[in-house]
Amino acid sequence: MKALVKSHAEPGLWLEDIPEPTIGINDVLIRVRYAGICGTDVHIFQWDDWAKKTIPVPMAIGHEFVGEVVEVGANVNDFFSGDIVSGEGHVTCGRCRNCMAGRRHLCANTQGVGVNRPGAFAKYISLPMTNIWRHHPGVSEEVAAIFDPFGNAVHTALSFPVLGEDVLITGAGPIGIMAIPVVKHAGARHVVVTDMNPFRLDLAKKMGATLAVNPMETPLLEVQKRLGMTEGFDVGLEMSGNPAALKDMIANMSHGGKIAILGIPAKEMPMDWRQVIFNMITIKGIYGREMYETWYKMSVMIDSGLDISPVITHRFAFEDFQKGFDAMISGQTGKVVLDLTK
Ligand code: NAD
Ligand code: ZN
Repeated sequence: MKALVKSHAEPGLWLEDIPEPTIGINDVLIRVRYAGICGTDVHIFQWDDWAKKTIPVPMAIGHEFVGEVVEVGANVNDFFSGDIVSGEGHVTCGRCRNCMAGRRHLCANTQGVGVNRPGAFAKYISLPMTNIWRHHPGVSEEVAAIFDPFGNAVHTALSFPVLGEDVLITGAGPIGIMAIPVVKHAGARHVVVTDMNPFRLDLAKKMGATLAVNPMETPLLEVQKRLGMTEGFDVGLEMSGNPAALKDMIANMSHGGKIAILGIPAKEMPMDWRQVIFNMITIKGIYGREMYETWYKMSVMIDSGLDISPVITHRFAFEDFQKGFDAMISGQTGKVVLDLTK
């Protein structure tokens, strides 16, 4: 089968013919139809220090996808050929304390699809049945293909109640962008988004941000004044991974404000913890998606009219993957989706 393989320990990815995966008795075989390119895939493509120490070579990569079930193992009773499904990108052990308590997103032995085990930039992928999410009828396949990062956005955005609250989102990458309609759907009042990238600030406005600003040009204090806010933001969603953004966020929160951090900084980040302490700010780290509460909420919000489709700005045929990666690296994109249906 055709697959996008990290076949050499150097920058690049190679479209190659590799054997189709086989399935065990608890597995589901899926024919991949559409796949999203994630920032993680770009790290693997560019072969940065993280990728060098994490990714086995050779291996097919990719973890954001939608596809059709084509075969199930003998123990699989509730998935059927023809089901339209996505895969949860974290394969958990099932045996640790958190897994046994139903908190699989907190498993300490997580394996990443397309990171530690073969991925979804391939004609077929095999996954344990415990990693399959069946889509509700009517969801667009392109949107279904990006449920993994949409799940990051939803997990972060719904970490704290936002009904009637003023929300600050730092970073208008694809995940920050998707968080905008989610918090609006959940009843937020003002949703302010920051980024330095004009393309992404425009996209943030299209997705319903009250204001989308470059924090270098428009300080957040000025934004608060413009919106008639007097006590700071109630909820902060850090989605840039930039320490300056988190610092700025902490300085603009209301007393008792709540912050969820999804963005991953490149290294340790120093912080003025006194602001956190004196202002009694709650900070929560977010990793992945809750299995499967986040997936449930995603499907139900889409059923009830949430539209994240404008975040998909670029589409390419699978064979044109290089154009997809070039577009991602340019920063002039929302989500980039590869079409494997042909
Ligand atoms: P992205 O890199 O496409 O977007 C980040 C955006 O932040 C960019 O548009 C950038 O211009 C902007 N930015 C940089 N510095 C800024 C600043 N000081 N203020 C405001 N904006 C700034 O990333 P993405 O794919 O949207 O993902 C968002 C973040 O979440 C990344 O850090 C990614 O590594 C992380 N992530 C975490 C998890 C998790 O499970 N914790 C999962 C997926 C992604
Ligand atoms: Zn576990």
